[in-house]
Amino acid sequence: MNYYILTLFPDMVMEGLNTSIIGRAKEKGLLSIEAVNIRDFTENKHNRVDDYPYGGGAGMVMQAQPVYDAYLHVEEKIGRKPKVIYMTPQGKTFHQSMAEEFAKEEDLVFLCGHYEGIDERVLEEIVTDYVSIGDYVLTGGELPAMVMIDAISRLLKDVLHNDTSAEFESFHDNLLEYPQYSRPKIWKDKRVPEVLLSGHHANIEKWRREQSIMRTVEWRPDLIGKAVLSEKEKVFLEKYLEERKKDLH
Ligand code: SAM
Repeated sequence: MNYYILTLFPDMVMEGLNTSIIGRAKEKGLLSIEAVNIRDFTENKHNRVDDYPYGGGAGMVMQAQPVYDAYLHVEEKIGRKPKVIYMTPQGKTFHQSMAEEFAKEEDLVFLCGHYEGIDERVLEEIVTDYVSIGDYVLTGGELPAMVMIDAISRLLKDVLHNDTSAEFESFHDNLLEYPQYSRPKIWKDKRVPEVLLSGHHANIEKWRREQSIMRTVEWRPDLIGKAVLSEKEKVFLEKYLEERKKDLH
């Protein structure tokens, strides 16, 4: 996977992405990240990349020309039109299945806005996907691009230590992950659930799935209707919901 980030703040994204798991994956050559400084492409003699919005209003708007030329630089390098993701609070909200789809691409370009955003005409020209990381407004698209790159990268082959750790976690099957425990067995008088010490893999798997179902009901009830469950698990869920109803009354 090759990531290209079109930004006015290349240091911000590179410093953030050069650490920990993503930094190691980059060192191992499992992915590459290039921050392209939009300012390097401006034709303005004062190096400006923004101007006042037509029609008036607060703030400044990033101009089309430097953004377009920064994009062309990447397109020429790749040799074909890549997916271009514009980070914007107006886009579709990013989620795990979107990360799974983007992880299949060979090249991804992230376009980070600043100020009041970017001239609409260049967005129409180059953007393939409009993505938000949530219903709030940030100062720039750099943090959202880093969030997406982190979520996508951990799905790439060999980036995490074992392939299963990315597969069986929150949002897989539309369920939240079960609670996790590590040493010691007793901490502040709290014992690790007995089943996890039993070594009985089938029982452990059953317990974990049931915990996932209960946790999803409690914390993300909006997901439970879309959860992928076996027939036995559906029965478990119904019983759990009935018991819960009784407890609430
Ligand atoms: N005026 C724009 C609006 O109301 O839609 C907001 C501009 S925001 C201050 C500046 C830049 O931050 C945007 O162009 C976008 O790249 C990025 N941004 C802000 N919030 C975001 C979010 N929730 N998700 C993704 N990108 C965001």
